[in-house]
Amino acid sequence: MKNRRDTNKRSSEVIVRFPPSPTGNLHIGGARTALFNYLFAKKHGGKIYLRLEDTDRERSKPEFERNILDGLAWLDLAADTLPDGKELWRQSERADVYRTHLKKLVASGAAYLSQEKERERREVVRFKNPGSLITFHDIIRGPITFDTKELGDFVIAKSIEEPLYHLAVVIDDAALGITHVIRGEDHISNTPRQILLQRALGFAEPLYAHIPLILAPDRSKLSKRHGAVAVTEYREQGYLPEALVNYLALLGWNPGTDREIFSLDELAEQFDLKRVQRGGAIFNAEKLNWINKEWLRTLPPDVSERAVRSALATETPRIKEDVLARALPTILERIGKWGDVRALAEAGELDYLRAAPKVDPAHLPWKGEPIESTREHLAEAAGRLERVAGAFSKDAITLALMPYAEEKGKGNVLWPVRFALSGREKSPDPFTLAYILGKEETLRRLAAASNLLS
Ligand code: GLU
Repeated sequence: MKNRRDTNKRSSEVIVRFPPSPTGNLHIGGARTALFNYLFAKKHGGKIYLRLEDTDRERSKPEFERNILDGLAWLDLAADTLPDGKELWRQSERADVYRTHLKKLVASGAAYLSQEKERERREVVRFKNPGSLITFHDIIRGPITFDTKELGDFVIAKSIEEPLYHLAVVIDDAALGITHVIRGEDHISNTPRQILLQRALGFAEPLYAHIPLILAPDRSKLSKRHGAVAVTEYREQGYLPEALVNYLALLGWNPGTDREIFSLDELAEQFDLKRVQRGGAIFNAEKLNWINKEWLRTLPPDVSERAVRSALATETPRIKEDVLARALPTILERIGKWGDVRALAEAGELDYLRAAPKVDPAHLPWKGEPIESTREHLAEAAGRLERVAGAFSKDAITLALMPYAEEKGKGNVLWPVRFALSGREKSPDPFTLAYILGKEETLRRLAAASNLLS
């Protein structure tokens, strides 16, 4: 790490931060903010620091902190080691620093202690607001001007010991040398207050980029009632972290081309704040599923096999190794995420992989085809398949059955074969089924079905 800083001159130019408050789980919006900061830092050979804004002692909880750290680690969004060598920056450990700055502000007359009489008497610290016009240049939105007169002398600390959000953020951003503040657009109205404080404290002003909110399909703010919002919920549902990262990057940003599948490194190469949209970004679960499916396809077969196995761990009897290996592409075709494997199993769609189906003979004949000829077709199909020499591949199976099916009518032959093998109206085609089940099992099921008809 150290070497990189020494040799890469540009690294001192970009320093960003991800400062979650551990008052809730890491949600999709927070993860996307972390991601945009991460991508921007990587793109510019800079640094990203993680900072826990835990000054709200009642609402901050260790389990939320753990959830945030877990979620970031799962998404592979690693922060840089802090300048003081520590892994975590906790605002709750910096009371001294805030107190020092607060005292300085009070001493200089930039802030003052004020007796408030709301419910109980207490002394807060108010900022003596000069009430100037504040303009900042937002990288995404252009110049934004606020008349800060309306803000009045706002409260910056509940007491000399308890700084509030604006003050802690400004002091910490300066302490970390933050060059770019990239955060949700819900923070735009906080920016003028923070700039006023930076000026009063004599700090450098970072550049700002406010990214669009994530909206539900009905354009309301995305919340729990729209489904999963915590990153860890997506992990539990069986999404791949690569897919979630890929999808989140496209929520408000686009590469300017049609390409949609990117790894984290590829995103870091492409990312540009100038291509972040201003309008709200609509969360589209179907698109996420599609992207996840694309990522599922890139997994090595043994990894997929293990994931499917573990999704089916509680189902008995177990699907045989070789059957599952051959069924894998068919299963992957049917799912958007690992959690869907269970849904397929629960719907009975994987039963035929496990054991011979209970076949209702009334369903074996194709429309209007007599029972007797259906039995003949099953017997002939079995005979042809038995004669397949060499690999029982999908091609060999197709080659063995197709001429006969074309001669007798495709439905008349292929339907009963398919139904005999799967026992279901909806299932893969008979060639795929026979290949998955293997020669022996296929012949056994065809014989059983033709027996039912005799
Ligand atoms: N702790 C704040 C939040 O979670 C950070 C806001 C900021 O980026 O300044 O919303």
